[in-house]
Amino acid sequence: MDLNRHDFELDELIGRIQENDHRLVALQVPEGLKMQALEMMDEIETASSAKVVLAADPCYGACDLVHNKMQMMGVELVAHMGHSQMNIDSGMPTQFIDVTYDGDPDLAPVIPILNKHLAIAKGRMENQNLDAELTEEEAQERFMDAVGRMTPLKDTKLGLVGSIQHLHLLPDFHDRLEKAGYDVTIPMGGARLTFPGQVLGCNYSGDDDTIGHYLFLGSGDFHPIGLVLHTGKPLAMLDPYSGDAIEMSFERIERILRQRSGLIMSSMDATRFGILIGEKPGQMRRTLALRMKRLLEKHGKKGYLLALEHVGPELIDFYPVDAFVNTACPRIAIDDAVKYAKPLITPYELEVSLGEKKWEMGYQFDEIP
Ligand code: SF4
Repeated sequence: MDLNRHDFELDELIGRIQENDHRLVALQVPEGLKMQALEMMDEIETASSAKVVLAADPCYGACDLVHNKMQMMGVELVAHMGHSQMNIDSGMPTQFIDVTYDGDPDLAPVIPILNKHLAIAKGRMENQNLDAELTEEEAQERFMDAVGRMTPLKDTKLGLVGSIQHLHLLPDFHDRLEKAGYDVTIPMGGARLTFPGQVLGCNYSGDDDTIGHYLFLGSGDFHPIGLVLHTGKPLAMLDPYSGDAIEMSFERIERILRQRSGLIMSSMDATRFGILIGEKPGQMRRTLALRMKRLLEKHGKKGYLLALEHVGPELIDFYPVDAFVNTACPRIAIDDAVKYAKPLITPYELEVSLGEKKWEMGYQFDEIP
């Protein structure tokens, strides 16, 4: 990744600092851009009379805004970089700073993948039969089927999405893809998302039954894994950093679903659960955690509420419980499960293990709305 090709829009921030005569400002940047944080601090301190303190703890999203601890330090404004505003209030005045990358990849490498995926979507449209009665074994198979658990499709449009630093490319890509013959839509999600085509690791609410397959503009497989796990739809990835095109394989998603299924099974006999509550403003799902505690009580089991800012095996494995239910960032349970000595499951998976939800409903991604 060429960091010099990222554009950090600091002018608005500097203007706000000058206007309000702020003296102490906190800067929060995502992990991938921390190498440039000192340069940004220099730029802000040179252009204004404010001193800048870097919020140097790991930051993976706008769910993780600097909050009251920095207020105690005397910070007047938080500059949060590289993520967009969510439907949360951290209690601190916060300026969100866009980061864009100037890479503009060629469409050609991804076209064969899109053609293959359009054919899969059309095939699905023609062969939808979700009314059939399922045996328990068939229901469990459906749970682990990356595609077969999907809700019926009404169309086979190409959904065009991206990670935040590439979203400025979407309008132009929309037109180029339409010219290439695809029926393209840029989905608009719910309140947790700010921009058309935006996806988060915990929210794919722009998905609907007219979208048959996806193109993701971005790098890495974090968002693609979540999107395919959530929707069961084929997804192509075009990387603006390298220009490479690949697809998210259904085999990979089915491996994750098999793992989730195994964790649900091994939680069935558990009687004592730790229920994790995230302390970060955009991960705190207290009501859900309390509902899980009541649900466990209804089934004669015990749930202990554990509140944490960061979740890691070394912080929870030692508690004398049989399994954990995670209500903090959903991706902790999905992506990091193997790191934990005990089953770490999502609230939906707990409901399946308790028999409150049926296998045949198919796997449901733990989305934060
Ligand atoms: S996936 Fe996790 S880290 Fe990313 S925005 Fe959602 S809750 Fe935050």
